[in-house]
Amino acid sequence: MPETSVNVTLLEKSPHPTAMTASAARTCYSANTPQAITRRWDSRPDDMVKTVDRVRAAGHHSTLEHNIYVFAVTGLSRAASHQLVRHRHLQFDQQSQRYLAFKAAGFPYVKPKKIAARSDLSRRFDDLMSALGQAYEDFLAAGVPGEDARFVLPNAAASHLIVSGNARAWYDYLTLRTCNMAQWEIREMSFQVLRILKKEDPVLFRDAGATCVRGYCNEIGGPKCPRYIAVTRAQIRAGEEARRRLADASRPAPPHSI
Ligand SMILES: Cc1cc2nc3c(=O)[nH]c(=O)nc-3n(C[C@H](O)[C@H](O)[C@H](O)COP(=O)(O)OP(=O)(O)OC[C@H]3O[C@@H](n4cnc5c(N)ncnc54)[C@H](O)[C@@H]3O)c2cc1C
Repeated sequence: MPETSVNVTLLEKSPHPTAMTASAARTCYSANTPQAITRRWDSRPDDMVKTVDRVRAAGHHSTLEHNIYVFAVTGLSRAASHQLVRHRHLQFDQQSQRYLAFKAAGFPYVKPKKIAARSDLSRRFDDLMSALGQAYEDFLAAGVPGEDARFVLPNAAASHLIVSGNARAWYDYLTLRTCNMAQWEIREMSFQVLRILKKEDPVLFRDAGATCVRGYCNEIGGPKCPRYIAVTRAQIRAGEEARRRLADASRPAPPHSI
């Protein structure tokens, strides 16, 4: 019986997301055409970064919507995919349990680490999956259609999806699903998405993630969350460091020795 875990791969993306967002932002305030604006970024990359940072921080997130990212998500449990598909601005196609019958090899499933860590519970979990797999196969063999036999498949049953969305939809999704309050498996998936997006387009996704990355938390008990504490401590340290550098820079230079 195959045990599996979630894996995320980027399949497709818009070719120039940072420039596209900068062009969308600048079009709002410029007498120039979008074509002329788009042509300028090659020679003014710093201006492009500044423009994107400004609109992102100001919350003018419609400018992110012109960029699409398409991911393959494999080995995600039905428990987690249920949560994923609640995000109405992402688009989904998911492996069907109606049209695909898991024969012979059995159905793939995800085992929570907290169960896997306990050998007695882990064995019991595997036995249960095995019994369910056997019942599923017996039903199919008895002529029950796949769409009915699947009723015995558990939340742990894994499947594959293609998930696409624009940069704004992913940004919003990551705010909720990389938070420590989110369930572990969807967080695991979301951190894979976050790492990919930050590597692909570091400016666009500079402050993507849970709200603590942006310096606040609205969750009850949030200020006690270890991640919130770690992030805000790091921000305070960075602020102190920046203030120190500023103070050093404004100190009069020592007299030159001859
Ligand atoms: C930690 C956590 C625990 C959760 N627990 C539960 C639970 O116990 N039970 C449960 O049912 N769900 C639960 N959820 C799911 C949650 O309620 C949302 O359905 C899910 O997170 C999708 O988020 P969303 O609705 O904000 O955004 P999306 O669907 O991703 O949409 C993004 C944004 O678009 C806007 N938007 C989208 N659709 C509309 C609309 N129709 N009208 C107005 N504005 C709209 C909103 O501003 C929204 O925030 C949980 C989520 C998290 C992160």
